[in-house]
Amino acid sequence: MINWDAHACLPQHPLADFTPVRKLHAAGVNYVSLNVGADMNPVSQVMSVIAGYRATIAAEPEHYVLVSSVDDIIQAAADGRMAVTFDLEGSMPLLDQPEMVALYAQLGVRQMHFAYNRNNSVADGCHDVARGLTPLGHRMVQAVNDNGILMDCSHTGRQCSLEIMEASSKPVIFSHANPYTLAQHGRNVTDEQIRACAATGGVVCVSGLSWFLGSAQPNADDVSRHAAYIADLVGVRHAGIGLDICFQQPGLDDTPPGEFDPGHWWPAAAGYNADKPPSFTPPEVWRELPAALRRTGMSDKEAELVLGRNMMRVAQQVWSCPQAPAKAA
Ligand SMILES: [Zn+2]
Repeated sequence: MINWDAHACLPQHPLADFTPVRKLHAAGVNYVSLNVGADMNPVSQVMSVIAGYRATIAAEPEHYVLVSSVDDIIQAAADGRMAVTFDLEGSMPLLDQPEMVALYAQLGVRQMHFAYNRNNSVADGCHDVARGLTPLGHRMVQAVNDNGILMDCSHTGRQCSLEIMEASSKPVIFSHANPYTLAQHGRNVTDEQIRACAATGGVVCVSGLSWFLGSAQPNADDVSRHAAYIADLVGVRHAGIGLDICFQQPGLDDTPPGEFDPGHWWPAAAGYNADKPPSFTPPEVWRELPAALRRTGMSDKEAELVLGRNMMRVAQQVWSCPQAPAKAA
């Protein structure tokens, strides 16, 4: 049994403390995708973060391993180590160059979405004007498919996400997004998006963030209710977990250098309020998820699909393509 957390954030700083990753592991998580940058982070910061995280992982091989395959994750679980890969939240760190996708793959990035809330030259954000996937965006989808990276549509505009799912030759995931029917937030996904994701063979992973669950103090039952909705709509093979926990560390400033306007990335019109940050489920919620999923009516086997087996299936399919790096460099 593998517990798969499709998305978590440490400070975007090379000296980020990995203690939260240990906490996730202690709570039963075997694999986590760590964010290494988003559209608001310049490439200099993204590269610094990747280098720092890789150094921390390399320095503590008894605790962490940067993996390239599902087999690596199974081995890491057997060894009692936490398996890690990286994800990008937005295409701006690709500098409009599809060949940058292969470079990030070599550095350990195994999951990518193209726009962080706002539009860019590749794709639309979920809190911006709908235009659709650009011609460059179509080439980027191809590059993501070709390099064995999971195509993610979290934070992406609705119409644009449908076009990405149409264009992708591989299963597409939402690594951290919830059903809009249950919580009316612009970051959440409609039934049409969930159906399109399932049609690619992909998985919608439930975020544990208060705003997206529609619960002020989110718990395992809130997460499970959203997973059960996805399972009821498109089948249990298409529901997963990406708790989206943002582990902040006092004293470690990860504000993007240069001009940075939080109101641009998290617009007030979409309901964001800098004075009222969201609540996150604690890592320990992982211990409660199996029983909470069963309380929705799922069998043990169905709960195991949601907790990890579905994402294992998709990652096996996507990561093992011939062009993907056999081992993280
Ligand atoms: Zn996110």
